[in-house]
Amino acid sequence: MKKIWQKLIPLALASAMSLSMISCGGEKNDGIILKNVTQAKNVILLIGDGMGPEQVRAGELFKGEKLAMQKFPYRTMVQTRSVSGLTDSAAAATALATGTRTSNGYVGRYVVPATGETTDLETIVDIAHGLGKRTGVIATEELYGATPMGFSAHSNSRGNTDELLSSAATSSNVNLFASYTIRESYQQVFIDAGYERITNADLISESIEDKIFGSYSILAEYEPMMVDDSFVAFDRLVTEALEYLSKDEDGFFLMAEGSHIDHGGHNNDIRYMLDELLAFDNMVAAVLEWAKDRDDTVVIVTADHETGGLTLEKDVTHKDMLDAYDKGYGDYFLWSSSGHTNADVYLYVNGADIHFEEYSFKDKNRIKNTEVFEIMKSLMVGEAAK
Ligand SMILES: [Zn+2]
Repeated sequence: MKKIWQKLIPLALASAMSLSMISCGGEKNDGIILKNVTQAKNVILLIGDGMGPEQVRAGELFKGEKLAMQKFPYRTMVQTRSVSGLTDSAAAATALATGTRTSNGYVGRYVVPATGETTDLETIVDIAHGLGKRTGVIATEELYGATPMGFSAHSNSRGNTDELLSSAATSSNVNLFASYTIRESYQQVFIDAGYERITNADLISESIEDKIFGSYSILAEYEPMMVDDSFVAFDRLVTEALEYLSKDEDGFFLMAEGSHIDHGGHNNDIRYMLDELLAFDNMVAAVLEWAKDRDDTVVIVTADHETGGLTLEKDVTHKDMLDAYDKGYGDYFLWSSSGHTNADVYLYVNGADIHFEEYSFKDKNRIKNTEVFEIMKSLMVGEAAK
């Protein structure tokens, strides 16, 4: 079946798009939606935490060629702010996962600022599960990180680790969890909830269990040769997960996050940032390779927000970036913050023979982070969200 997005139309023209599922008081979209969408069997969302446009450009310059994500045919900008203003990763993940803007700190939950009343939000994972699909959540950080939890848990605070993990283990509809190593007692929460622990990541693809869980030392550095038995390479882990998830004839939804690009930004550490970004892009390349002969899979790459306020000079060269990487600093770029910024981030879309007649994902366009959820939902349900 050919998958075609025929048009993007302004929501204003599309009459009141029913957001009944998320009508908990969250801000509504007023940007663009998709019309005449036919179903995509598999939807894969790849998130670079803290990966702004200048991080991407730095990665391209350092590598000396286009990154895998830059080869995607469609690109637009995404606005990242939360109800609180400058977003944190919890509110950003909640927006991407549920289509609702919430306040910083809240995970999978909307809070009415005036009353403090909260509502648990349905996630894209829940929707995929309802369609009979398998679902996966992977992060290079610990599983209780804000992004993986935004897709699988509900809590008033991203710091409530016990509550988050318990929520994810018992009520998330996630078939596969894989993340950086977490302590034994946290792993036990998943085993008690019926998840089979897969200790060797190379065996994920062979599992016949309905719920599986892995906790690994994930190597997310741009040095594939460094991988030994004690480490799992990010791209390898995600490829294993794709094999496991794609055994379901109804398809799957996968979210995989390169979590530590953000830490490179917080630390204003160009080498750390580039290592993590290129490891993330290697994983993107592996996913593209997996999806390349399929007409049933859409791959989306985005970020939750920018971190560090990175700005590169206009005429920075490949050699300049190699030099900066070696030294750990350089004269050709500037970090203006040790926190998150409100810079827009990219959204790249690949797959499913996408056609835009009236509006296209070009630089001049801009969507909200909540609309990434709407796009994914539209693709899975097979029609414009309504
Ligand atoms: Zn951060």
